[in-house]
Parts: sequence; structure tokens; C-alpha cells
Amino acid sequence: MVSQAVILCGGIGTRLGTLTETTPKPMLEVGGRPFLLHLIQEVARHGVERITLLAGRFGDQITATFHGHRLFGAQIEVLAEPAPLGTGGALGFAVDRLDPEFLLLNGDSWIDADLTRFVLAWRRSRERDPALIAQMLPHRVADTTRFGRLVLDGDRVAAFDDKGDRRGEVSGLINAGVYIVDRRIVDLIPRHAACSLEREILPRLVREGRVVAAPVREGAYFVDIGIPETLARVREELIGIRTRPAIFFDRDGTLTRDSGYTHRVEDLHWMPQAREAIALANDRGYFVFVVTNQSGIARGLYDEAAVEMFHRAMQESLAQIGAHVDAFEWCPHHVEAAVPAYRKDCSRRKPGPGMILDLLAAWPVERRRSFLIGNGEVDMEAARASGLRAVRYEGGSMLDILTTSF
Ligand SMILES: [Mg+2]
Repeated sequence: MVSQAVILCGGIGTRLGTLTETTPKPMLEVGGRPFLLHLIQEVARHGVERITLLAGRFGDQITATFHGHRLFGAQIEVLAEPAPLGTGGALGFAVDRLDPEFLLLNGDSWIDADLTRFVLAWRRSRERDPALIAQMLPHRVADTTRFGRLVLDGDRVAAFDDKGDRRGEVSGLINAGVYIVDRRIVDLIPRHAACSLEREILPRLVREGRVVAAPVREGAYFVDIGIPETLARVREELIGIRTRPAIFFDRDGTLTRDSGYTHRVEDLHWMPQAREAIALANDRGYFVFVVTNQSGIARGLYDEAAVEMFHRAMQESLAQIGAHVDAFEWCPHHVEAAVPAYRKDCSRRKPGPGMILDLLAAWPVERRRSFLIGNGEVDMEAARASGLRAVRYEGGSMLDILTTSF
């Protein structure tokens, strides 16, 4: 997985009239929260560590809401451009904060896409052709009029024209506003000047043969909030689209080998076909959550940073097969902790249901089809206390267990 995602939040939103008179477009309310928060959660669940929001008009609202926060496992930073620089200029402005490669998303559209798979496709394309600079996400629509249109030759983008006159055929592939970009793209962008990624930079790279496309499945949900009709549609549909069942996995002894307070990255060993099981859960459209007691922290054996590094190593290992965990929850507490700061009878510690309930509150989960898999009695009790079905793992192929548990 790439570690950074950049979200373009500087769109003016003129076509929304009074709705964006005093509100930046990505901050428009959808389901009781800013549209942007949905997007942040969607990006973060694919294992991105850092999300950079490039803000423009009314950027102070975005800064006040998000800057410096840690949300869904990702650190959020906001960079507000001093004057409107366009989508390309905004990237140029942010150059000092960009990783060598990063995900780039429009802050005013939504596509239901597996970003881990998108990154895996990019890695494979780049191995074949290191000169590539960007990968786009194409999406088929009946009317391309409002969007940039793509023509593909195999996985190569052969032509890209930004929105404009569409004579004749209007159906086709559009630019869904999701990219992976090599930071070298910034070399093409004039510094401190307005510049459009879609109209100036990408067409040039396409002519040079340096842009590929990685489609998601046909019929994926796509919508933008650029006009009142589609904003109304998002408000009506997005929560439903986002709601998925979840699998809550215990970690030690269930997904990974339990060698007693396991915390060192070199001790990460997957249980048989556990990675493949997670990939299957991703494919089936389930959230994958890990809920793990980590009283080793309370006992002073390791710290929270070690747990985060271990989970990072799990994500990296999963990314190699295009799989991901959506969120990790751990409980560092214990009633008899050696470390006073962690001495607590915590309801999050299994058999308490706290970690599961926190996840159910933070994510749009369809409870009815959700369940937990664990190897301990505490897992079974935590599931019962949260009203979830529980599956006991007693060894063997996790993929087989999961296949029969849906
Ligand atoms: Mg266990």
C-alpha cells in the first residue's frame, strides 16, 4: 500500500449556487457529517497512514475540522493554498509534503473501489515500465458530458480530454477522479502559478504514454457532488452504499501465530491461509476488523508504538496480495498493570465488548451478517456481549473456516 493519500478540496463549487456560498464543497453535509469525512474514512480503511487535504476557498473550515487529527488510523494534515492554483498548482504548492508516490483523489466525488487492489495494479505496471507517472481509475457511464473522457489501449491511457463538447457518442469511460501519482509529476507544474492537472498535465503525460488505467469492477457505484441533483443523490444513497457487514478477527492465535505477547515484527507469522481469508472477506465486501487484547503494554513488555508497527507489518504483508484490514483496535489495559498509566479494568478488554462496540459506532456496519472469529473463550464472550455471532477457530485453514462461516 502507499502510505500517503492527497485529497483535492479546493473546488469552488459554482454549480451548487448558494449551497457553497460560505461552505467548501467537500464540507457539505451528507448523512449528518461532512462529505469529506466519509471520504477520509474510505481512504483510511485501505491502510493509508497519512492523508493530506489540499484546501482552497474557505480552507480555514477544513483546517479547523481536520488538521492534526488522527482519524480511522490515519494522521490528517491540511494545507491551504493562499490563492486558487487549480488542481495542478495545488500539488505544486504541496510538493514538500508529498511522498515519492501517493494516492490522489478528488474531494467531490465517490467511487466504490478497492484502493489496495488499485495500488497493487500500479506496482505491477511500474515494474514493467518504470517511466510511468500516473495511474487513473476509469469508470463507464452512459453520459460522459460532465467528465473527463478516457480512451484506453490495453491498460494504457491512449487519450484523455477533460470535460467539454461531446459530439456524437456520449457514453464511455470517464476519469473517476482517483489516481496514483509519482511525485515527479510536480516537475511539470509551474511553481506558484495556476495550473490544471486535468487540462494541462495529464493530457501531456498521456501523449507521452506515461499514464495507465486500472478499472474497478463494472457497475461500481460512482457519484460526484458537483451539481444539486447529484448532491441530493449522495445524501440519499451514500450511507446505504457504505454499509457493509463486518468480520471481527481476534489477532493472536487466530490470524497470526501467538508466541506469547507477540509484538516484534520478525515474530509475525500468519496462521494457515489467514491472509487469503482476509482477501476473500475484502472481495465479498465485508469490513475486516482486528480486535486484540494487548496487555503486554500494561505489563511493560512493549509500548503502543510496537503494536502499531506490528499492525503496519501485517498491512504491508497483506498489500502484497491486494488485501487489507480496515481497522485495528487494541486494548493496552490490565487491572494488575505494572505500568500505572495502563492499570484499569477496561470494558474494551475482551471479554468486554468495548472494542467491538466502538467499531460498530464508528463504521457503517450491517450487524445482521456480521460475525467474530477467535480462538479464545474471551473472544466468544465478547461477541455474545455485543450481540454478534461467534465462530471458534481451532486451527487449520482460516480460508476454509471463513468460507463456511459467511
Ligand atoms: Mg487469541
